Parts: sequence; structure tokens; C-alpha cells
Amino acid sequence: MLTAVVGINWGDEGKGRMVDLLSEGCGVICRYQGGNNAGHTVVNDRGKFILNLLPSGILREGVVNVMGCGMAVDLEHLCGELDSLREKGIRVTPENLKISDKAFICLPYHKQQDILEEERLGDKKYGSTRRGIAPVYSDKYMKKGLRMGDLPHRADLEEKLAEILEWKNITLKGYGAQADTVETMRWLEEYGARLAPYVADTAAYMNEAVSAGADILFEAQLGALRDIDYGIYPYTTSSQTLAAYAPIGTGIPGAKLDRVIGVMKAYSSCVGEGPFTAEMSGGQAEALREAGAEYGAATGRPRRVGAFDAVASRYGALVQGADEIALTKLDVLSYLDKIPVCVAYEIDGARTENFPCGSALARAKPVYETLEGFHCDVSKCRCMKDLPAAAVKYIRYIEQAVGCKIKYVSVGPGREDYLTME
Ligand code: GDP
Repeated sequence: MLTAVVGINWGDEGKGRMVDLLSEGCGVICRYQGGNNAGHTVVNDRGKFILNLLPSGILREGVVNVMGCGMAVDLEHLCGELDSLREKGIRVTPENLKISDKAFICLPYHKQQDILEEERLGDKKYGSTRRGIAPVYSDKYMKKGLRMGDLPHRADLEEKLAEILEWKNITLKGYGAQADTVETMRWLEEYGARLAPYVADTAAYMNEAVSAGADILFEAQLGALRDIDYGIYPYTTSSQTLAAYAPIGTGIPGAKLDRVIGVMKAYSSCVGEGPFTAEMSGGQAEALREAGAEYGAATGRPRRVGAFDAVASRYGALVQGADEIALTKLDVLSYLDKIPVCVAYEIDGARTENFPCGSALARAKPVYETLEGFHCDVSKCRCMKDLPAAAVKYIRYIEQAVGCKIKYVSVGPGREDYLTME
């Protein structure tokens, strides 16, 4: 069974905790795109963990974790993540972690270029996490990238790096910066040596796992609205966040997914710049941000927050091809007397329920409907019957608006804090 757990919105939907829950019984968990520019927070009986690059299955015994060829890996950051897991007693070995030899390496000069470009943009910045993701993916398509499989071949690696830096330094010079081959080689050798035991032909491994009928779970980073092609370009990430990319980004491009679970928040949140139609401001936003602890897992930045956006979420569910929805953080809304829902957009005086793109999206104004709040603590609810009627009504309302069955509802950050809808 091949299952993908993906984001319906702008990211931070709580995918990590759903993967942690749904990974029970799965043999293999894979990340298929992105780098350390987003973070998954997982709270379970072993503690609280923030994972940027590692698949969430690393916290479960007996699960094989695959970092696929669609990823961009900052070696130093990954070593740091492994160190902090070891400190908490989590065992990571070449048996439970496999990094694709085709995954690209995110180098210090990518990070440097990302920072320099955001600073150059000033007020017009994209809101990048400044971790080098746009530069590393751009270099991939320019065919100027280094991959994990290059690491063991020192002489070839140095030659390739010198050639790449000759080209890269033309750009960096424009910002008044330079990258150095010797220093970069030292970085590659230091961290590359530590990661060498985990680098493998993961495509071969994945093909075997599929043939053997393994239960495989694909874990996305960010959400549908951040996909490079289908998201709110250019305020997107630089990789494909959609479920359809999961087989490609893990080495089994011919495989078909059996189940796509879209993770969607009971309200909206967004890190970084770009159009965010249902955004709240002032005290209303502060109250929701505090109730939902909406601060970025990777950066600590306060997240922008807003009402549930049915227009954006319906589009997200469509492009993800979601079969079922996991609705997260319902408990956060308990403080509200009335719950606003953005049901349509108004663009230049005309109402639309379709998600627009480009400058039309930037001009969109939210059209709200208001539902009754449930005004009580739902965090102990463990089945649908435990929920107050107003909460069930809210869930059913947005289920209909999005056009996809809501199967799971989470009511707290812990592994068991959820219920299944009937
Ligand atoms: P991800 O990148 O999609 O995994 O999302 P993040 O980890 O960035 O953000 C989700 C945050 O919400 C984390 O801090 C989770 O512990 C927390 N969380 C997840 N589900 C729930 C829930 O149902 N209720 C509450 N209160 N917090 C939740």
C-alpha cells in the first residue's frame, strides 16, 4: 500500500504528527522533496522533536526512513539533526536511514546566495527561510549541482566543485561575495564522511520494497499552495510539494499511489510573504496566533494567521488528489464565540469560488460566513460522539466546502489526541 501524507494549505498543517500517527505498521517512510527549510514538530512518548530533513519515521523502531532523490540535503544541518536525536537516545543506523545517492547537496554558498538575494530585495523579499533552497534547486536545473553519490570520489568531487565555483562566483561577485574551493571541500569532507554510511541506491531499495508489497508512506514538506508549479508563485518553495511527485522523488516513478491523505488546519496559517486572502490582523490575529502557538518550527518566526479558507483549501485538495482529509488543531478554535470561514473571494467586484492565480489572487478580498463557536475544551474528545454539536457542524461544513471526506480530526499535539469521523 502506497500512502502519501501531504499539505493542503501553505504548510505547517501538522503533517509531521499525522505521519507519526499513520506510520504505525508502515515499513518505509520517505521524504521526496525539499530541504531543511521547513520543520515538522512531533510530540510522542519519547519527547518533543523538530525534524527538518529526516523523515518522521525515524522516531519509530523498525521503520526504514528514505530521503529521496527529490531532496536537497544540507550536510551540516543533517549531522546536527542526527546528533540531537542521538542525545535523546534515538538509534539511527544505515539500516533505518537511507539517503539517496541522487539527492542534491545544499552547500554553504547556496545559503550565502539565498541570504544575499533576500537582503538585496529588501521590502520586496520572498520571505525565504534563507537556507539555500532556491539556489540549490536552481543549480540543479542549471546542471551545476553536486549529489550525495559524488561524495566518496574525492578527486572528481574537487574538480567538479572547482568548475562549479568558477561559474557560481560570477554571480556571487555581483553581491560582493566569493566562495572558496578549499573551504567548501573541507566542509564536504567533514560532514560527508559522517553521512557516508547512510548513502545508498535508494531507487533500487524502493523498487524492491514495492515489489515485496511493503506499506510505504510518503511524507511531504510544505503544502499545495507552496508547490513551484501549482502554488502561489513566486511565493512558493522551489520543489514539488504535491503527492503526484512522491513516486518520482523517491525513485519509483512508475508506481501509483493507493491513498492520498491531505492534512488541513481548522484555520489558516502562513509563514513568509505572498497573498494570504483570509488573513486576520490586530488583536484578532494575536489571539489566534497565541491559541495555536503559531511560530515557525524551522525559524521561530510568528506565522500569519487567518480564518479557514475554503477556496484555497478546495484547490489544495484538488491538486493534491486527496482521497481523505486529516483536519488538525480543532482544539485551537475553542476560545471563539463565532468562527469565521472564508467561503469565496471577491475580485474586482465579482464573486468567485475558484482559486485564482497571479495578480488576480493578490487583489482577492475574502467573503466570510460565520458559524457558531463550540466554546469548550475539545482536547479530550476521542470519538465523534464526544464532540459538541457545534464542532461537528463546523467539521461537516468545511468538509462540504472542500469536497473531500474528513476522516481524522486532531484535537491536541500528542500522538493520541485525535478522533476518527464516522
Ligand atoms: P508540519 O510541518 O505540517 O508537520 O507542521 P508543524 O510541525 O510546523 O506545525 C504543526 C504544529 O501544531 C506543531 O507544533 C504540532 O505539535 C502542533 N499540532 C499538531 N496537531 C495539533 C492539534 O491537533 N492541536 C494542537 N493544539 N496542536 C497541534
